[in-house]
Amino acid sequence: MCYLPAVGFVSGLVLGSFANVCIWRIPRGSSIVKPSSLCPKCLTPIKWYHNIPVISYIMLRGSCAECSRGISLRYPLVELLTALITAGWFLRFESLETALIFTVFGLALVIISGVDIDYRVIPPQVSYPLMAFGIASSYFNEFISSGPRLIYSVAGFLSGILAILILRFAGRAVFKKEAMGLGDLKLMAAVGSFTGPAGVFWTLFIGSFAGSLAGIGMQISGKIKKRDYIPFGPFLAAGAVLYVLFTDFFHSFIR
Ligand SMILES: [Zn+2]
Repeated sequence: MCYLPAVGFVSGLVLGSFANVCIWRIPRGSSIVKPSSLCPKCLTPIKWYHNIPVISYIMLRGSCAECSRGISLRYPLVELLTALITAGWFLRFESLETALIFTVFGLALVIISGVDIDYRVIPPQVSYPLMAFGIASSYFNEFISSGPRLIYSVAGFLSGILAILILRFAGRAVFKKEAMGLGDLKLMAAVGSFTGPAGVFWTLFIGSFAGSLAGIGMQISGKIKKRDYIPFGPFLAAGAVLYVLFTDFFHSFIR
């Protein structure tokens, strides 16, 4: 089965290309299937052979074949990131069903992160279906090892909601500001439906740690000011992906 991570990587490149389309179109309320990809600058339809993930970007030296204006480096980076995450699921899980379930999970988290960075909003068009899919697929989800999986999945869903409500309440009481939005609540409910209550705990822990480090780093480097808003979704998404991929590593600290 050693070829599966390679299949995952190549499929992940294609899924990453789809993620780029979704990040651009979902917040604008346009269809994610029609029309085919356009250059965002000159609106010329992109020919299929100019739309091959990562490779086309290199061949075209990062500019549109039609108008020669620059294509953001983010497009190939999103494709590579999705490919690495997807290959990771096939290395991590022996069960094909579980690897496929998390392929959907990873793709959705990449889209959510991209939209949150651009628009500071967790798109409910992604987070709601993700919750439903997490619960519906729990029967096949081998990441959930204990108990009846459906119950554990629903428990994770509820703990995601509860945890963010508590953090919101604490943020208001202590810092007098909203620490977390309702978008984060939906995101954590979705994460919990795939990972159970333990996954909610670890995702928040890793996400907050990474978010604080990044926040301090950006303040020191002068990229942001103290009161500036940093979207938290990408850090939560990274926390969830890292926790599921490297569960044993994290559990070696606390069980
Ligand atoms: Zn163009």
